[in-house]
Amino acid sequence: MQQVARIRPTMPTIVDCPTCGKKVEWTEQNMFRPFCSERCKKIDLGAWAEEKYVIPSAPTPDDLDDESAPPQ
Ligand SMILES: [Zn+2]
Repeated sequence: MQQVARIRPTMPTIVDCPTCGKKVEWTEQNMFRPFCSERCKKIDLGAWAEEKYVIPSAPTPDDLDDESAPPQ
């Protein structure tokens, strides 16, 4: 009766670097995961901080009255 010699090592999870799309192994050793490198991590965090995190301020009554409604 044949038996499997040994259990295959667990395949690392492969993810796409959010910045450049490169395949990245999600491993304990990859401290930049899910990014492929520190550079990509910083790029993404920078973009997040500069663009995505900027939430337009809520419209104020002055803004709403600006052009869409005539002044009372
Ligand atoms: Zn990358």
